[in-house]
Amino acid sequence: MVKVRFAPSPTGFLHLGSARTALFNWLHARHTGGQFLLRIEDTDKVRSDKKFLDEILEDLKWLGMDWDEEPIYQSQRFDTYREKAEEVLSKEKAYREGDAIIFKVEKGRNIEFEDIIHGNITTNTDTIKDQVMIKSDGSPTYNFSCVLDDISLEITHVLRGDDHISNTPKQILFYEALGYTPPKFGHMPLILGPDGAKLSKRHGGVSVEEYKREGFLPEALANYLILLGWFPGEDQEILSLEEAVKLFDINDMSDVQAKFDIQKLRWLNGEYIMKEKNEDLLPLLKKQLSATKIDTSKFADEYLTKLIDLYKIRMKTLSEFAGLTECFFQDDFKMDEEGKKKYLDKEENVENIRIFANRLEGLEDFSHEKIEKICRDIAEERSLKAAEIIHPTRLAISGKTKGAGLFEMMELLGKEKVLERMRGIQT
Ligand code: GLU
Repeated sequence: MVKVRFAPSPTGFLHLGSARTALFNWLHARHTGGQFLLRIEDTDKVRSDKKFLDEILEDLKWLGMDWDEEPIYQSQRFDTYREKAEEVLSKEKAYREGDAIIFKVEKGRNIEFEDIIHGNITTNTDTIKDQVMIKSDGSPTYNFSCVLDDISLEITHVLRGDDHISNTPKQILFYEALGYTPPKFGHMPLILGPDGAKLSKRHGGVSVEEYKREGFLPEALANYLILLGWFPGEDQEILSLEEAVKLFDINDMSDVQAKFDIQKLRWLNGEYIMKEKNEDLLPLLKKQLSATKIDTSKFADEYLTKLIDLYKIRMKTLSEFAGLTECFFQDDFKMDEEGKKKYLDKEENVENIRIFANRLEGLEDFSHEKIEKICRDIAEERSLKAAEIIHPTRLAISGKTKGAGLFEMMELLGKEKVLERMRGIQT
C-alpha cells in the first residue's frame, strides 16, 4: 500500500510551495487508495509555535485535504532518535564529538537513486561531510529524524521540494546504516516568481493564509497549485480535487520549473466565484465587507444576495467586492474624478439625468425592465444614444464608470436612493 506523508515544520505559516507538496502527496495517496500521514517536524523548540501549527492544519483542511491518522510529533520522539543513534554508534558507523553523535561517511562511493520526477541522480560521497545525527543539545538533525520516522511510518514515497535533493543521498546513507531499503523519492521543482527567482515575499503573498485573507477560494487555490506541477491535459485546466484524484498519476509530474502567475490564479478564482452558490459566498463576503469597516448589519441577506448576483461575475477575488459595491451600503462613496469630468461636468448630461429622474418619480413598479424602458424612451425622444444617459447616471448613483448593469443597480438601490443621488448632481 502507498504511504506518503507531509512533514511541515511549524516555524512559519504554510508556504504555497509546501501546500503544493502536501497536495501532491495527498493526491497520490487518494488516487492509489493509500494513506496520507502528517508528521510535525518540531525539533526546533525555540522556533516552533503552536500558532503556526494550528494555522497549517487549518489551511490543509481548508484546501480540501484530510489525513489518515493523528499526526506524529518529532518533539515527542527524542528518546527514540537517541537510541537509534547509539545503535549506529555501537556498529562503529558513528563517533561522538562532545555530546553530539556523528555519522561517518565513507568516501569514494556513488550514491544513486531514481527520482520520480528528475530521473537518475548520482552523488559522490566525496562531496558529503560526516553527518551529525544528534546535536550536542540532544536534538536530532532533520536528515536523521526524517529517515527514522519515514522508516517507522513505513513511507513508500517521499515527495518533497527540490530544496531537499541534496539531503536525499545523506538520507540514503542512513537507510543503509540502519539496514532498510529507502522509499522512492520525487523532488518537485520549486515555485518561481515571475522574474525566475524562488517565490518569496517580494513577489507578493507566499503563504496560504494570505491568499485566504485576500479572498481566494480554496478550490481555486488548490486547483492552481496542482497545475504548478502536473499537466492534466489541454482541456482540463479547471478541475476539482475529486477529478484530480481520479486522473492523477505520479509518473506524469512535470520537471519544469513552475512559474507563479498571479493573473492565472486570479482568472481561475473568478471562474470559481462565478460557479459558487450565492448562499455560500454570502458569509465570506460579509467577512470581507466587515474587514473594510462596511457595516452589513442594517442590510438583509436578501439584499446582499441580490448584490452578489450582480457582482459575482465581476470579481476575481472576494476582497474586490467591497470596493465594487461600496455605493450599495453608504452614501459617501468615492467618486471617480476622471469619470466625473467626462460625464458629469457637462450641462447636457446633467439635464438628461434631471429628466430621467423626473420620469422615474412617477414609476410605481421600480423594476429594471420599467426603468430601462423609460431610459430608452427618453433617448429616442431626444435623439440620443441610450449610453449617453446610462454612463452619466451610473456615475451619479455609484461614483463609478463601470459596474453591473445600470438598471439592475437602480432597482436594487431603490427609488428613493436613486432619485436622491440623481438630484444631487449639479454642474
Ligand atoms: N520539514 C521539512 C520541510 O518542511 C520536511 C521535508 C521532507 O518532506 O522530508 O521542508
